[in-house]
Amino acid sequence: MQYKTEYLNELMTTVVKRNPGEPEFHQAVSEMFESLDNVLPRHPEFIKSGVLERIVEPERTIKFRVPWTDDKGNVHVNRGFRVQFNSAIGPYKGGLRFHPSVYEGIMKFLGFEQIFKNSLTGLPIGGAKGGSDFDPKGKSDNEIMNFCQSFMSELYRHIGADVDVPAGDIGVGGREIGYLFGQYKRLTGNFNGVLTGKGLSYGGSLARTEATGYGLCYFTSEMLKSKNKSFDGARVVVSGSGNVAIYANEKATQLGAKVVAMSDSNGYIYDPNGVDVAAVKDIKEVRRARIKEYLNYRPDAEYHEGCSGIWAIKCDIALPCATQNEIDEASAKILASNGCYAVAEGANMPSTPEAIEIYRQNGILFAPAKASNAGGVATSALEMSQNSMSIRSSAA
Ligand code: GLU
Repeated sequence: MQYKTEYLNELMTTVVKRNPGEPEFHQAVSEMFESLDNVLPRHPEFIKSGVLERIVEPERTIKFRVPWTDDKGNVHVNRGFRVQFNSAIGPYKGGLRFHPSVYEGIMKFLGFEQIFKNSLTGLPIGGAKGGSDFDPKGKSDNEIMNFCQSFMSELYRHIGADVDVPAGDIGVGGREIGYLFGQYKRLTGNFNGVLTGKGLSYGGSLARTEATGYGLCYFTSEMLKSKNKSFDGARVVVSGSGNVAIYANEKATQLGAKVVAMSDSNGYIYDPNGVDVAAVKDIKEVRRARIKEYLNYRPDAEYHEGCSGIWAIKCDIALPCATQNEIDEASAKILASNGCYAVAEGANMPSTPEAIEIYRQNGILFAPAKASNAGGVATSALEMSQNSMSIRSSAA
């Protein structure tokens, strides 16, 4: 990428040099620079005061050892991270991701994007991200608990209700937040809003579970309105089958759409009658099984191994809710040639820069993650305020 502003080209070179082997982080910074290219000439003060040099450097990166024992008594050692990227407008805020692909570059890209997403909500929250290369797939509850307790045994000294407030992300949901919160409380003796995404009985907020997926659909609806379109009667593909994907499916369906496909990291299902979200919830939330099992609920549906094929299914609206870079140039071209007119990102950075260029060339409406998936973290900020006021979420 070549920018018109020479200063951005130089700074991008420095970022790449300073953060070797971290392509996802380079990508996130480069996208931000692209959007600033037209702004900087009007704001020389940003250059003069080094705002960009500061913002591309995390305030602090914590990297630690996480030893834990499996059910057979074997010892495993994973790596834990917390990148406290920016606290200019509030305490660090952002999720924890447990996934084998996690390394510093992924943490930095997510933390960097979180700064802008959080500030865009208008709420007083800074940006951070954390996690581990731990793979929760196939682990027992006891193993997950052992891991979470060990992870928190280091993390607790770096976080706090007014310091840094982690939450969930891929591989971290209500169960993990419960184990992490319990360990934090045990180590510090403090019962406060140090984590969000908690259960309702111990300080969680109503609708935090649904917030990211629902928020994505509300945002998308507004975007569609600008072109006199809506979810009503639209054919939708939702990738993923985690928390964001499930509630995106639920809300899109409530708004009159037919969600015809969903996926997990092994493959995707195609159900031309509309994916039954109750079945997906049972598979993923209750039984923690693979999406392939959907065929036991709906034998007429199809299952295909591999993930990228999901974008070849004809749709009007694509909601990528799985992971980063899941739509590349080739997939974007197929979406465009199938008549897809809107892409709204539920995952963080699911479209490659080349894919975004294809959306532009084809006039596809595009909702970038920093705006369209901010419903989750915005509801987390509500949970923080409720916790600091010692008030409980109520259904009334
Ligand atoms: N992991 C979510 C995100 O990407 C939520 C973070 C939070 O609630 O702090 O925005």
